[in-house]
Amino acid sequence: MIRADKKTVLSFAFVGLCAVFFSCSKNNKSVLSFEAMDTFVSVQSYGKNSAAVNQKVRERIVQIESELSVTKETSDVYRINHAENFPVTVSDDTKNVLLFSLDIAEKTSGALNPALYPVTSAWGFTKDEFRVPSENEIKTLLPLCDFKKVSVSENSVSIEKNMALDLGAVGKGFAGDEAVKLYVDEGIKSALLDLGGNIQALGKKPDGSLWNVGIKSPFTGEVCASVKICDRAVITSGGSERYFFTADSKRYIHIFDSSTGRPAESGLSSATVITERGLYGDSLSTALFVLGKEKSCDLWKKYHDFEMILITEKNEIYYTEGLSECISFYDNFSKNEMIVKESAKQ
Ligand code: AMP
Ligand code: MG
Repeated sequence: MIRADKKTVLSFAFVGLCAVFFSCSKNNKSVLSFEAMDTFVSVQSYGKNSAAVNQKVRERIVQIESELSVTKETSDVYRINHAENFPVTVSDDTKNVLLFSLDIAEKTSGALNPALYPVTSAWGFTKDEFRVPSENEIKTLLPLCDFKKVSVSENSVSIEKNMALDLGAVGKGFAGDEAVKLYVDEGIKSALLDLGGNIQALGKKPDGSLWNVGIKSPFTGEVCASVKICDRAVITSGGSERYFFTADSKRYIHIFDSSTGRPAESGLSSATVITERGLYGDSLSTALFVLGKEKSCDLWKKYHDFEMILITEKNEIYYTEGLSECISFYDNFSKNEMIVKESAKQ
């Protein structure tokens, strides 16, 4: 028997398909919750026009979904994946997200791979038609996942026959950045976005204190640590977010290793990245989850422009030294765990 778990969506399923709108007069706070990008989104902002700006943010996020979705037939990504002739003309959003993803793919040796869709779709993710492809099938599909064969020139995108793109690993991070830009343009100084567990904060709380963002244990789903931030995205990738079981109780997760065409087995249970830019954080969280602890540390030492929290399959938690001042651990978690600071100094 095969079953799927879409944790984020399920936990909010009771909210239904309708957008829910609340407005509170205190601090001119407005909260808006809705479904988009295959997940549950909640935004809260503070300021005179906060309710109206939240609505604009919602429209912007829905617009981004309509460009990047792998399943919506009018999206740029769908049109690329089903094109008979190339190049395909795409929006500035799609071009920018794709170029950024290709750059991170290069920097992570394909751990993030925006051209991995032939493999992920063969395993049935996105359409929820789960199956385990044969080794032969995977072998045939892997050459179709070479991100170096994606060409982008201005707003024209070309891929080779039978290749296909999936920007699902980065789209929510980009949407968070665009939402923050909109808030800033509209004069909002304080906002917090939750895009299916991707958290993005603008400024500080209205009372001047930092936002405290919880990090969930991939084992229990309970908050096991928290980070105090402002103007940052906190983005987690993990195997507990989406997976299916086969009849023999084997679990297959939704994040794939380009080198094997199989679900990543890097020894990590979750990878959280804290960055200024959501698109960068989202790209990296997926890549780090595939790379595992050692290679993630190498990447951090090389670029040093992000912070990370890695939780291993053995339930050890590792974090970078830049978080020392802002990270807290919950008693019932940390007493069992090994907390290690990775130092940039060798
Ligand atoms: P995230 O939750 O941001 O880590 O994104 C995971 C989603 O990105 C998956 O559900 C797939 O659609 C897609 N994906 C899986 N593995 C990869 C990968 N190695 N590189 C890029 N996208 C991936
Ligand atoms: Mg990601």
